[in-house]
Amino acid sequence: MTLSSRTKTIAPSVTLSLSAKAKTLKAQGVDVVNLTAGEPDYDTPEPVKEAARRAMQEGFTKYTPTSGIDELKSAVIEKLRRDNGLEYQKSEIIVSCGAKHSLYNISQALFEPGDEVIIPAPYWVTYPDQVRLCGAVPVFVPTEEKEDFNIRPEAIRSAVTPRTKAVIINSPCNPTGAATERRILERIAEIALEHGLYVISDEIYEPFVYDGFRHTSLAAVSGEMKKRTLVVNGVSKAYAMTGWRIGYTAAPKEIVEAMDTLQSQSTSNPTSIAQKAAVAALREGGSFTKEMVSEFDRRRRVIVEQLNRIPGFSCTLPRGAFYVFPNVGGILSGKYKGRPLESSARVADFLLEECKVVVVPGEAFGAPGHLRLSYAASLEDLTKALDRIESGLKTLG
Ligand code: PMP
Ligand code: GLU
Repeated sequence: MTLSSRTKTIAPSVTLSLSAKAKTLKAQGVDVVNLTAGEPDYDTPEPVKEAARRAMQEGFTKYTPTSGIDELKSAVIEKLRRDNGLEYQKSEIIVSCGAKHSLYNISQALFEPGDEVIIPAPYWVTYPDQVRLCGAVPVFVPTEEKEDFNIRPEAIRSAVTPRTKAVIINSPCNPTGAATERRILERIAEIALEHGLYVISDEIYEPFVYDGFRHTSLAAVSGEMKKRTLVVNGVSKAYAMTGWRIGYTAAPKEIVEAMDTLQSQSTSNPTSIAQKAAVAALREGGSFTKEMVSEFDRRRRVIVEQLNRIPGFSCTLPRGAFYVFPNVGGILSGKYKGRPLESSARVADFLLEECKVVVVPGEAFGAPGHLRLSYAASLEDLTKALDRIESGLKTLG
């Protein structure tokens, strides 16, 4: 069979495949602890489910406008005004089938073969492959562990070439948990405006911030920057709605129109009843999110403290998202099955085989030497996983 060359330039999402693997093992009765999950372990709040049930009962089960229903666009506009101090018109909002789909449509709408797209590393697995699917080139700009993985604007400036079309900023960041301060965003904005770049601002982890950090949307930095920013957000993480598949983009009208056309020829509208559920989430879900985030904060402290007690592991305390990203360089010389572990990918294999703990190796995020552990898991599971890791490592040669 001859598949398209496009499919050969990309790989399956490592996060999704490892998470599926963990779920399969669990279903087979293996006592695995799954710390791969990029999804809250909470159930979707009841008022949100009720809105979907009501939509079904009322027969709201047909095609909707491709870019989403007016009611949801209004709820998104209210959210952007309330939380981010931003003003948008409905013509500048498009709802898609999850933020991943929003990002996909954005890259298809903006990038030409040969365009360069700057991506701070470590990065979320999906960005480079979505860029590659357009024939464009991801250009990685490293961030440093010793600087808490904060973005250095000057490093972005140095990576700009005449071919640079856009920068992708993800704050809070998956996988590092780094949250970017307003003063850094302002400097990134200066660079973008100076060079006429678009900035795709993936704010899906917006509410997951700790230690008093205040999230700023990149579009809120200045009126000029708003015209160059594509804000991506959604309900998956904030309202424990990963399966409902609702994400959205706020961007200049011309880009939204191009995304709408792409969507009309690919998925059509996002699921009608999920859109109604998302309206309820955005309007009524605030207290649910607040409570979940304070529980995640508690877990974050416990997991970072325990990880730092494990010989060979070191872990910074992230200010956002729900992942920790420990450095495991200290155990790579340990021998497993007769040879040194050597890479974080092998460490992840070892943890799965010997400790029955599933984590994502840093290689998936362009950061070998690290592991990503999600703390969107119960404290009981987290403690069990860390105890198993600690005793498993003692068996290494
Ligand atoms: N961006 C980042 C950084 C993510 O971690 C995720 C998680 N899947 C997404 C976007 C997409 O979220 P969803 O498609 O579920 O809205
Ligand atoms: N974003 C989540 C993660 O990084 C979900 C998986 C995915 O969409 O790739 O684990």
